[in-house]
Amino acid sequence: MMGRERIEYKTADQIRLMRAAGLVVAEALDAVAELIVEGTTTAQLDAVAEQVIRGAGAIPSFIGVGHPPFPSTLCVSVNEEVVHGIPGPRVLRAGDVVSVDCGAVLKGWHGDAAFSAVVPGPPDTVDPDDLALNEATREGLWHGIAALAVGERLNVVGAAVQDSVGDRYSLVEDYGGHGIGTSMHQPPHVLNYRTRDAGPRLKAGICLAIEPMLTRGSPATLLGEDRWTVVTQDGTNAAHWEHTVALTKAGLWVLTARDGGEAELARLSAPFAPLD
Ligand code: MG
Ligand code: MG
Repeated sequence: MMGRERIEYKTADQIRLMRAAGLVVAEALDAVAELIVEGTTTAQLDAVAEQVIRGAGAIPSFIGVGHPPFPSTLCVSVNEEVVHGIPGPRVLRAGDVVSVDCGAVLKGWHGDAAFSAVVPGPPDTVDPDDLALNEATREGLWHGIAALAVGERLNVVGAAVQDSVGDRYSLVEDYGGHGIGTSMHQPPHVLNYRTRDAGPRLKAGICLAIEPMLTRGSPATLLGEDRWTVVTQDGTNAAHWEHTVALTKAGLWVLTARDGGEAELARLSAPFAPLD
């Protein structure tokens, strides 16, 4: 099934439009990140993100997706919630692991990104293992991105993520990354772990959302009663990081990163290739 569906390759001009959408998502997530403090409700995070997105002339892309229709701008997933949590009255507490996923569409082009953070508090409220889980997830994301190169096969991503993560944490296998462009979810599906299925060969113009999810326990997940919230089966905490990335002949442009990925790609010796 994988790799046989049509991939939407983008022109340079189309990638520039996706960069504009990506920067709206980055701005929304930056605003949300400042509110990851004790006492904030997840609904407040959602309201701020929606305000930033609509203020930029863009539209939150998660609202109305799926069945039942997703109701919010953000997915906010706390502690054992992995992804797709629905914002609401829940109040953040010190030490919570909060994963925030945001999508926006601008002039018909989509951006999709996520980060996790541990709510700051006194040392006895913050578990260092949660901080390490979060850092490992972020690191896995950047290694997955840095592995992308024209001529490679898609499964370089999962191999790089898995090598980066090692065996300290589990990689969730039930969800993965995806192509993105004129719609939020497009072929190909991007696995976050090593697989023999090589997948399609990477060509210039492919745009992908890379999004590893890690848990402190088993990788198995369950779907909540709201039909959206994905939780770890064993109740251990999870983290999720995501960026939308464009691959061109010259290298990589991380469309949802403020700096286009320049700093992290340099650290990992991957070619940074902005088109602006
Ligand atoms: Mg996302
Ligand atoms: Mg995504």
